[in-house]
Amino acid sequence: MTQERFDLVVIGAGPAGEKGAAQAAYFGKRVAVVERSHAPGGTPATTGGMPTKTMREAALYLTGFRRREVYGVGLDLPPEISLDRIRARAREIVRLTVETVRENLERHGIELVHGLGRLEPSRCVAVSGETERSLRGGVVLIATGSRPFRPSTVPFDDPDVDDSESVLALERLPERLVVVGGGPVGCEYASLFAALGVDVTLVDAGERLLPFIDAEMSDVLAEIFARMGIRLVMGRGVATIGRVDGALAVTLANGEVLRPDKVLFAAGRAGNTEGLGLAEAGIEVDPRGRILVDERYRTAAEGIYAAGDVIGPPALASVSAEQGRVAVCHAFGIPFKETVDPLPPFGVYSIPEVGMVGMTEEAAVAAGIDHEVGRSWFAQNPRARIAGTTDGLVKLVFRRDDRTLLGVHVVGDIASELVHIGQAVLHGSGTIDRFIHTTFNVPTYAEAFKYAAYDGLQRLSGPRSSP
Ligand SMILES: Cc1cc2nc3c(=O)[nH]c(=O)nc-3n(C[C@H](O)[C@H](O)[C@H](O)COP(=O)(O)OP(=O)(O)OC[C@H]3O[C@@H](n4cnc5c(N)ncnc54)[C@H](O)[C@@H]3O)c2cc1C
Repeated sequence: MTQERFDLVVIGAGPAGEKGAAQAAYFGKRVAVVERSHAPGGTPATTGGMPTKTMREAALYLTGFRRREVYGVGLDLPPEISLDRIRARAREIVRLTVETVRENLERHGIELVHGLGRLEPSRCVAVSGETERSLRGGVVLIATGSRPFRPSTVPFDDPDVDDSESVLALERLPERLVVVGGGPVGCEYASLFAALGVDVTLVDAGERLLPFIDAEMSDVLAEIFARMGIRLVMGRGVATIGRVDGALAVTLANGEVLRPDKVLFAAGRAGNTEGLGLAEAGIEVDPRGRILVDERYRTAAEGIYAAGDVIGPPALASVSAEQGRVAVCHAFGIPFKETVDPLPPFGVYSIPEVGMVGMTEEAAVAAGIDHEVGRSWFAQNPRARIAGTTDGLVKLVFRRDDRTLLGVHVVGDIASELVHIGQAVLHGSGTIDRFIHTTFNVPTYAEAFKYAAYDGLQRLSGPRSSP
């Protein structure tokens, strides 16, 4: 088979692959992207970010969830109609997202090659599918992403046991749902289904929801979840999932048995590295199959880079895209993007949302930093009162001596957006005084930053806070 030559061959058209490819093409490189799916865009476009966020937004709208407490009414659509409309809307957003990715590749003159990619010697990528091709890259970028982790002890062949991908095909709402996993995906789905009126129990072996966020914010989220009617079973893992007398049974480590009619297993992701020919190419992986790279995203094999979920945490679309761009800039010596932002924000689209950037209070304590915090609760925020979204908190973590901002934490409506206000100050190594001296529109959620900063100032003159 003849080898076709490209400057860059990318395997995988998710955020890392698409953006890495576009970066190289923008700077004049000849690029091919190999994608096994007919729909480019990866997890965000097809089974992750876009469909889940659309379902969330549609559920909030269709059920009147946000305004229920203020006006005392929901829209009360029959559940099957809500689900139908939600899924139709999600399909439309998926279609638009895939189209946008396809257009972006086309606009950059990138060749999208449909098929399964596998590494061969001399930076060749063998493509198998409808046609067989051999693409030789000056540089190869592996951006094959991840998939839901499926432990062999969980019976995924049971039609009522789902992972975060198969649950998107749900045809009717369950009455009782057990979500296994208190990470971002578990929290997003648990609160989405609770908003749709499903009786939800969330089980996690850990003690806290979203263990990477500030502990106080995790507690705030847990309280809000409990008020929404979500039963949280923390600190107890799942021993078995199976059927007893034909009915689903989830047995917890302490012997308690839950009887849902649906289980959503949302605990972890696994890298898509099987069958890629990594070992033969001399590329090392860690015990979880994730590709080992250096700070420039170089693998152990000359000219072969890897970026995105396939190299492990933080496993965010935003960071994966940046990794792809940085990898490619380094590979071709393009002096444009040398590092990935070391302080990326996190957004969790649960109901309500969570946003964070920078240090948690626990991290400040662990680092021995003499710190203080400032808080502003949405319950006191005029915009939140008007909107009926008073469940929320903005928390700032800062140094006591010079008031330098260290961390920004938000739980509440549009927290994933609000966190960027703090991010801008954090990136400029600013102090909390920036919020105090900035004039914010009134009424806005953003004002909460100002009052969190004032709260912090007041604490400086009082006794030290304890985390
Ligand atoms: C339910 C859910 C919600 C999420 N929400 C968010 C969010 O709100 N914000 C956020 O930032 N992140 C979110 N994420 C994480 C985000 O989706 C991932 O971090 C991101 O998709 C990683 O991008 P990637 O390019 O590395 O891989 P992927 O998006 O997984 O793309 C990899 C691509 O490679 C292709 N591929 C794999 N193997 C081969 C092969 N051998 N040959 C050819 N093609 C191949 C796959 O088909 C896929 O298209 C969410 C994830 C999930 C599961």
